Amino acid sequence: MKAKTLIFGCSDVRLQNAVEEMIKRQDIKPYCQIFIPGSVKVLFDKNESIKDFFITQLVFLCKKFSVEQIIFIGHEGCNAYGIKNRAYEKTVQIKDINNAEQLIRNVIPTIKITRLWGILNPAKNTIVELQTI
Ligand SMILES: [Zn+2]
Repeated sequence: MKAKTLIFGCSDVRLQNAVEEMIKRQDIKPYCQIFIPGSVKVLFDKNESIKDFFITQLVFLCKKFSVEQIIFIGHEGCNAYGIKNRAYEKTVQIKDINNAEQLIRNVIPTIKITRLWGILNPAKNTIVELQTI
């Protein structure tokens, strides 16, 4: 079975509605998913065995299900990053997403990458929008 898309995002519950809406709106099915606190942060974990495990899983899913596109999702107010300054937080996460993109392109050069950034509405304590970055 093929899954054209792999969604790689943070497991933060506040992302759930926005991600589900995007999947519905873009009719992304079937899809593979990796949801882990901090999203791609785990691919650069200081612990080599953790890092290697997740890179292996990512490559496995892409190859096993002939994934054509990966959607990387970062978001504001990510507890896994724990960075208070919003601008700096975004810079750090985008750098990790860029590195994740490079990492997977080294294995699958033709893969399409989409990068999304979740905007947090603190009043509602939820992600209200996913912007392309
Ligand atoms: Zn998060």
